Amino acid sequence: MSNNTFSGGVVIANPYPVNQVEIVQAPLPSKVVLPLQQRIGAEAKPCVSVGDRVLTGQIIAKTEDQFCVPIHASISGTVTAIDKQIIPHKSGLKSNCISIESDGQDEWIETQGCGHDFLHCDRQTMIDYVQRSGIVGLGGAGFPSHTKLSKATDCHTLIINGTECEPGVMCDDALMQHHPREVVRGVEILLHITGAKKAIIAIEDDKQEAYQSLLMFSHNDRISLVQLPTKYTSGAEKLLIKALLNIEIPSGGFAADKGVLCQNVSSTKAIYDAVIDQRPLVSRIVTITGDALTPINAEVRLGTSFEQVIGLTKVNSQAHDYRMGGMMMGVDVETTQVPICKITNCIFVNNKKPVQATKECIRCNSCNTVCPIGLLPQQLYWHAKGKNIDKCMDYHLLDCIECACCSYVCPSHIDLVSYFSFAKALSKKQETDQHKTDIARERFEFREYRLERNKQERAKMMAEKKQALKEKMAKDKQADSAQKDKIAQAMARVKKTKEDNA
Ligand code: SF4
Ligand code: SF4
Repeated sequence: MSNNTFSGGVVIANPYPVNQVEIVQAPLPSKVVLPLQQRIGAEAKPCVSVGDRVLTGQIIAKTEDQFCVPIHASISGTVTAIDKQIIPHKSGLKSNCISIESDGQDEWIETQGCGHDFLHCDRQTMIDYVQRSGIVGLGGAGFPSHTKLSKATDCHTLIINGTECEPGVMCDDALMQHHPREVVRGVEILLHITGAKKAIIAIEDDKQEAYQSLLMFSHNDRISLVQLPTKYTSGAEKLLIKALLNIEIPSGGFAADKGVLCQNVSSTKAIYDAVIDQRPLVSRIVTITGDALTPINAEVRLGTSFEQVIGLTKVNSQAHDYRMGGMMMGVDVETTQVPICKITNCIFVNNKKPVQATKECIRCNSCNTVCPIGLLPQQLYWHAKGKNIDKCMDYHLLDCIECACCSYVCPSHIDLVSYFSFAKALSKKQETDQHKTDIARERFEFREYRLERNKQERAKMMAEKKQALKEKMAKDKQADSAQKDKIAQAMARVKKTKEDNA
């Protein structure tokens, strides 16, 4: 039986608690920047040009890649640029984006979905609405929801992930408190699409208001609400499945292989909007938290700059570091000019702190104890430090979810997770290099084979030609001698006739 928890992980009290979890409606931005490269799949191709007027919710870029969703204008206004801009990514690189300047109207496209009586709609129609509305996993993964739903053909249990991914992040908590009806209806839509027998909404036990709000609207026998002990990282999909259903998803395996589908609670609400109204995903709730500010949740249009969103908290100091995501798994951003994306669940505003000096590993075993995946981070660290990728693989490097629990507890302040992230990148590079080497070797071997084959074919052809020539010459010789014989015989006959007549 499951006890609704998992081994390992760390209990971290929210360092920035608030009394009331509200949602602030961020003002309409004067400009948005929308990246064309999404988390997964090919870069979308613009279907608008500079100077075009666009409406809120209008598709402005799309791709044929089945893993991708279209990109929608998040405000109405004019397309002012299609060029490279810095995006919130750990690479700090620029990527192609569409910039729109607002006309202040927020004029929407007309949309029509299945309506509230959605049961008359078939599965594929609903999945198409989800795809066309640009819904992806809003918990941080950014995986397109329609792809997950299309693959869920043999699903027995639906898990709605209402556990916050990191301490201090409150956007899902706020959503459950303020939109419980939409969440529960979204779960019913997912039950209809997947044909699952039951759905479990999983919430951590420190979110009592959210739990009570959902309880008020949850009257469906197939939907249950389950509270889990508040522990980081209970939001990780495989851990959640293990905690709730006692089902182990093996290394490299998927939840769908075991008949389980996980959806983030915010994605579930977005799916509700997509199916009922075909309302595209143009905004999301973002938690802004960290030092020297009172944390808030704000509903923000996609493409709004971090700068504008941080401005809602009245923080006005250069003495801060900013990161996208939470305190454990977030990514530092170099500039606050980067745009809010679908996976931006949190902006962390930290006072600049001196970096703690790293000491030698004292083999205390703390990291091994907290790893929720059951890996051995200490051993992984030694091999990653020595760039011994084969050994890292022996210690299941690729199963590491980069939760940073090990780094968090390390008394020597070793940034273990950075070593693992580096080792993964190195492994990928080696794989790519190996792949390139394999292709080059295959090409070389094929060329050698082709040359040898041509040589043999040519030799065979020459031998055949030579043989044919030989045969022809023999034939000609034979014909020649037969001709000579005939002439000799004719001459002998003439001679005989002459002699007879003499
Ligand atoms: S970062 Fe990786 S190794 Fe460290 S605790 Fe998390 S899963 Fe385990
Ligand atoms: S927690 Fe740090 S010091 Fe302790 S064993 Fe792990 S790496 Fe070494």
